[in-house]
Amino acid sequence: MKKPVVDRNICEGYAVCVGIAPDVFEMDKENKSVVKNPQGADEQTIQDAINGCPVQAISWAKE
Ligand code: SF4
Repeated sequence: MKKPVVDRNICEGYAVCVGIAPDVFEMDKENKSVVKNPQGADEQTIQDAINGCPVQAISWAKE
């Protein structure tokens, strides 16, 4: 099972990922996206979130 990771140093809090996959990503107190459930959506939906992030802060974790 592939897992997405968010690079907090790159994330600028646009929350596009949360809009696309709200069961996978959530915004924390610093307005950065964190992965709350890597299995909260199917792989294609997560890929859409990766593609939708304006600053490419999300990637697949190395297995
Ligand atoms: S879409 Fe990208 S920049 Fe926006 S909150 Fe998600 S990871 Fe951060």
